[in-house]
Amino acid sequence: MGNARDDDTMPGPCPYRGPLDRPGPGVVSYPGHVKNWVEQSGLDRVEDHRRNDAWVARLWEREDALLLKMDSEGRFSTDPSGSELRLVRPHVEFNPQLHYLLGLVEGQPVFAAETLVDDSPVHTAREVGARLSAVERDLVFMARALTNWHRLEPRCPSCGGETEVLRGGVLRHCAQCGRDSWPRTDPAVIVAVVNPNDDILLAHQRGWAAGRVSLIAGFVEAGESLEQAIHREILEETDIEVAQVRYVGSQPWPFPRSLMMGFTARAVTTDITADDHELAWVQWYSRDRVRAEAAAGRLVLPGKASLAHRLIKAWLDGRITCPLPVRPVPLETVPVQPR
Ligand SMILES: [Zn+2]
Repeated sequence: MGNARDDDTMPGPCPYRGPLDRPGPGVVSYPGHVKNWVEQSGLDRVEDHRRNDAWVARLWEREDALLLKMDSEGRFSTDPSGSELRLVRPHVEFNPQLHYLLGLVEGQPVFAAETLVDDSPVHTAREVGARLSAVERDLVFMARALTNWHRLEPRCPSCGGETEVLRGGVLRHCAQCGRDSWPRTDPAVIVAVVNPNDDILLAHQRGWAAGRVSLIAGFVEAGESLEQAIHREILEETDIEVAQVRYVGSQPWPFPRSLMMGFTARAVTTDITADDHELAWVQWYSRDRVRAEAAAGRLVLPGKASLAHRLIKAWLDGRITCPLPVRPVPLETVPVQPR
């Protein structure tokens, strides 16, 4: 591509190959298949080109430019079923401090802005993340991460000076001390722990609705490896020691700025002592018990958009077992609603 600052040409089409649907003026949707964040994104974030401020501004002026409106609670507008994102044509003058370039989808520019969202229905990514197409979800997650960051950290972390938004919204520059700041991502681990009976460890946090459970999860602390965080979290929260820690997959979780990394681990000890500061209870569950209690409504599993759901589903389907399989665990794709 050469020097991006001098390069005024459009990059080639991004790798997304799904059909681009145009249901009506001002509204565009991107039907496609939901993948597990294991393949290249359909959203081309144009890292090189976005260095050129004039190039970004010209994208906003294009007739096919689109805007994803998101409010401060991360809500956005969808079609009535909640399975298609509503994107609108920008109709105000471009303001690089408020309008952030998410990137290109099949060469079509998509921006995000934090604003009131008045086109009902409105939803959050937690509510409809599993129903959106993969590229729609990437747009929503990037918009959520960027708008959160700009709202929460508008000033320079070094000197407290005012900062200017550059590179289409992914950088803030402090004119006072010269420091550049980028959005931060907090790593977090989530673990499917199985014991020698092939049971899985499920926990109910204090304050959750009755019956709601998930896997043991926690943030990676400063100066800690992912594996150290896993051993520490499981020991702290349940008093269980684990071995055979294996990576399965990851997913962005910008609520407000996490990256969830999913693992499996084998329990070496099985007696549970729950950390009563965080957890109301922790128990071993067999597959039959999970199926029966979930069917009876006594157990509420994590939402389908979450990595926790897909790890539990992989265990239910026998793709995570004890002893753990040596080959990588295939996670199922998130089901897509028929359109
Ligand atoms: Zn500064």
